[in-house]
Amino acid sequence: MAEPDRRFAEGDGRKMSLFVRTIVKKRDGAELSEGEIADFVSGVTDGAITDEQAAAFLMAVCCRGMTTAESAALTFAMMKSGETWDLSRHGFVADKHSTGGVGDKATLVLAPLLAAVGVKAGMMSGRGLGHTGGTLDKLEAIPGFKTGLPKADFDRLLDTIGCALIGQTDSIAPADRRLYALRDVTGTVESIPLITASILSKKLATGAHAVVFDVKTGNGAFMADPKDAERLGRALVDTTRATGRKASGYLTAMDRPVGEAVGNANEVEESIRMLGGEGPADLRENTLLLGADLVLAAGLETSAKEARRRLNAALSDGRALEVFAKLIAAQGGDAGVCDDPKRLPQPVSRRDVKAPAAGVVARIATREVGLLAIELGCGRAKKDDVIDPASGFRVKKKPGDAVEKGEPLLVVELGPTAKPNPTFYDRLAGCFTIAPVGTVVEALPFVVGTL
Ligand code: URA
Repeated sequence: MAEPDRRFAEGDGRKMSLFVRTIVKKRDGAELSEGEIADFVSGVTDGAITDEQAAAFLMAVCCRGMTTAESAALTFAMMKSGETWDLSRHGFVADKHSTGGVGDKATLVLAPLLAAVGVKAGMMSGRGLGHTGGTLDKLEAIPGFKTGLPKADFDRLLDTIGCALIGQTDSIAPADRRLYALRDVTGTVESIPLITASILSKKLATGAHAVVFDVKTGNGAFMADPKDAERLGRALVDTTRATGRKASGYLTAMDRPVGEAVGNANEVEESIRMLGGEGPADLRENTLLLGADLVLAAGLETSAKEARRRLNAALSDGRALEVFAKLIAAQGGDAGVCDDPKRLPQPVSRRDVKAPAAGVVARIATREVGLLAIELGCGRAKKDDVIDPASGFRVKKKPGDAVEKGEPLLVVELGPTAKPNPTFYDRLAGCFTIAPVGTVVEALPFVVGTL
């Protein structure tokens, strides 16, 4: 017997597409069933749904929102649209997700650090998006480092080193790839259920048993408003828990870059320093905050204090850096960069951006700093742009810091292909607001909230 055509149902005397019925139901504000959502996503994946129908569905979700149950169903269906990895043979595997920002290099430090203290960390990372940098682009600043590894290599790295840092494969969440491209051109990116399903379909497909979320907020974050950041963070944590995994998260400050380095090779260099027990205090705090949750989730410690002590010890005694060197070598890179970071791509020149007057840094326009970093060659303005890994910034002053007239606010590192246009340095200086000497500046605390 022929299979019934699942795209159609009889409705008031004429054939009505099931997909259209789903769109109309959401358009009118009703709650969709798990089955309706699953059918819709499988139509997105196998091409039974047209771009117009998918776009209309996205707009309906964007305008009407979704309940937690719908959001979980969408995430699950998108996750199941491709391969799902079973990591059970590795025991417990931890992952983290950051919503991204400027100078956010925590993954580079956290993966080897967790492995060094006995928590397996399997992380699938992305490329730069908008004004934010991407972990894969940073890792690829290490000569020879390969991120496009198949599942078999991911397993081998978890077995032998205890951590793996790889890029997204085409077989993970293909429904997201189609929907993401449509969202980009239909004004439907800023929808919390759609962002949640997009992030989690990929994250959960790779099978981690616990995920910690770092949701950035402040003027350099995608969710600049802390209320939006909190809504997204809650949805990420609750939906992950609804799938039976452990989840926790924080809202952290992105009203200034994390650490000093913004770029690619320089962010690797800063991560190497951090893994060797040095490095900026905010990067250490970022790493310990997220890492402690995963140590607790793994059941290795019972208090955050003990978890932090365990992590701090591995930073101080060289174990974390040793794991990073092994990981680099296993992923085809030059592990010598850990002993001699000068083996990373180096800038050909540097130029200071100086304070025009003495005072206190009141604000950094962090999103603009990120966009100027892209303009310098640290990221891509167009899909096929080539990154200059040696280019970047070193941010010397943060909100609340006193500054003398002529003191560097930021140092620009120019890689071999960097050709900033004549207004570049003025625009960069304009990202810093200097208040009169003695002004008390209230910067966001690093941890803005707990999810
Ligand atoms: N990252 C994703 O993968 N998807 C989104 O929608 C936003 C950020």
